[in-house]
Amino acid sequence: MATGSINVSVENIFPLIKKFLYSDHEIFLRELISNATDATLKLKHLTSIGEVKVEYGNPLIEIKVDKDKKQLHIIDQGIGMTAEEVEKYINQVAFSGAEEFLEKYKDSAKDSGIIGHFGLGFYSAFMVADKVEIITKSYKDEPAAHWICDGSPTYSIEEHDKTERGTEIILHIGEDDTEFLEDGRISELLVKYNKFMPVSIKFGTKTETLPKPEDAKEEDPAPTQEVDNIINNPNPAWTKQPADLKDEDYKGFYRELYPMQFEEPLFNIHLNVDYPFNLTGILYFPKLGQDMNMQKDRIQLYQNQVFVTDNVEGIVPEFLTMLRGVIDSPDIPLNVSRSYLQADGNVKKISSYITRKVADKLSSMFKNNREDFEQKWNDIKIVIEYGMLSEDKFFEKADKFALYPTVDGSFFTFEELQEKIKDSQTDKDGKLVLLYASNKDEQHSYISAAKDKGYEVLLLDSPIVSHLIQKMETSKENISFARVDGDHIDNLIKKDEETISKLSDEEKEALKTDLEKVVPKETYTVQLEAMDSNASPFMITQPEFMRRMKEMQQTGGGGMNMFGNMPEMYNLIINTNHELIGQIAATKTDKKKERLIKQSLDLARLSQNLLKGEELTDFIKRSYDMIK
Ligand code: ADP
Repeated sequence: MATGSINVSVENIFPLIKKFLYSDHEIFLRELISNATDATLKLKHLTSIGEVKVEYGNPLIEIKVDKDKKQLHIIDQGIGMTAEEVEKYINQVAFSGAEEFLEKYKDSAKDSGIIGHFGLGFYSAFMVADKVEIITKSYKDEPAAHWICDGSPTYSIEEHDKTERGTEIILHIGEDDTEFLEDGRISELLVKYNKFMPVSIKFGTKTETLPKPEDAKEEDPAPTQEVDNIINNPNPAWTKQPADLKDEDYKGFYRELYPMQFEEPLFNIHLNVDYPFNLTGILYFPKLGQDMNMQKDRIQLYQNQVFVTDNVEGIVPEFLTMLRGVIDSPDIPLNVSRSYLQADGNVKKISSYITRKVADKLSSMFKNNREDFEQKWNDIKIVIEYGMLSEDKFFEKADKFALYPTVDGSFFTFEELQEKIKDSQTDKDGKLVLLYASNKDEQHSYISAAKDKGYEVLLLDSPIVSHLIQKMETSKENISFARVDGDHIDNLIKKDEETISKLSDEEKEALKTDLEKVVPKETYTVQLEAMDSNASPFMITQPEFMRRMKEMQQTGGGGMNMFGNMPEMYNLIINTNHELIGQIAATKTDKKKERLIKQSLDLARLSQNLLKGEELTDFIKRSYDMIK
């Protein structure tokens, strides 16, 4: 038996590993299984180029828990190590065997899928183990080696009688980490990190039911057998060619990724690029509706089929983090800060590649099957609108396929819409005015008033619509948006020919004074207007600008804070041609006049959903009294 002392620098590294390096102890298992996978794929590579003459077969990586002995075993059938290699690769930490391997077989190794670096790799075992053993037999004709290290810089190494090729790592789990001796905990980790690793991973066995033999009696139980419990799918869909996958395969993979997700995705995008960076993956558009805060079932990031994280912020543009699926790239630096990540050239390229692919997919869906695209619009608009807001490149593309639905259920692109309303919806300055509603029910009376005048009313109801409108107004010339219940609508030129007021100027003057006595002026600006006698007598509108600023503040960014603190201000438009207004003007007693105005104002507020609480209760009581 030989003993030795590990490289001096290690002395400082052990406590570091234990305490600071990985706050997440659980990743040790991912590291060790990655090494086992590497060793297996290296053997595959060497056999494929004829360097090693062994049967590669169908190798397994096995994980075993021995609770009594407090041991965890990771066993592979890979390339193995000679005693000399253990000295070299394991003892000399700084020396990376993988690097040397890659150097030696650089060109032929490219497509063999050898896993890159994950920081300290093997030594992360000491995060959870007091003592680590390696029993390893190389594919070369040399005796097996047995290495033992208790976490201090000294180790021992001797021969071992292991005859099968491969490596067994034995972790003597420490007092603080006994959770890693629980089957349930190990299963959980295997599913989290290794579900799609490229070499089969066995954890225990399971019972499989076999078909009954022909001559079995009715009451005979079906025969069973114990089989290896393989926890991973070594060939997940994203590693395959799109041409080899059917729609069903994509849906199946979605269920594999998110077993708790019962809703099917709307469509998917297969990513596959190898220059100037390497990236594969499948992104799914889920049904999103109005929901912007999807925290669970996020996009998962892999490196060569090893799970890294489901926090892809900084790698995928923010608006696409609402999608689901997988991206796999060896070219994304790990264990670095988010800000470093965002400055990384490759990551920037990856992010814009993904944006472009998503835009192209949407564009081709729009072109190839407009009807289907329209049907999906409500479920995907949040992503598209958010993307248009946040990424200029995406805006340019999406501007051609983003849809503007009308309250009647037709869909226009912006260009089509412009064409449609260019003669009918302009204001005094020749600006095109796009009328929209944000809620069909709440704004019903305004919508029908606008439609009566022949205007096209859009239904823009996503939570970020005020931001998008602002963006459209600044990036397009000569357009403005106006909500149907806003004040801008009055500026539209195409009004019915000037209606003559039924009230004289003096009567109007007197009416205005009466109104202002009752209507609180800190909230309402009273405006008298001669409209059609069928139009509402009292109508409340809100200045477009003010409302939008407030909305933008609520959904974050954009508006300045001062608007949040400003009191609500409305316009109160009085239709002087309505019969009721004539009656109010003609009412003799002040008390009755006041009552009529108050009741009418409350009705107008009710129609705008502004009457609440005690005021609403009073209003209803008063109304009952009136009709009894
Ligand atoms: P890295 O994998 O980043 O090179 P590690 O510390 O994880 O660093 O491993 C160091 C080296 O030890 C590996 O490069 C490899 O040569 C060797 N090694 C580790 N685990 C195994 C294994 N299961 N089978 C064969 N060689 C191994």
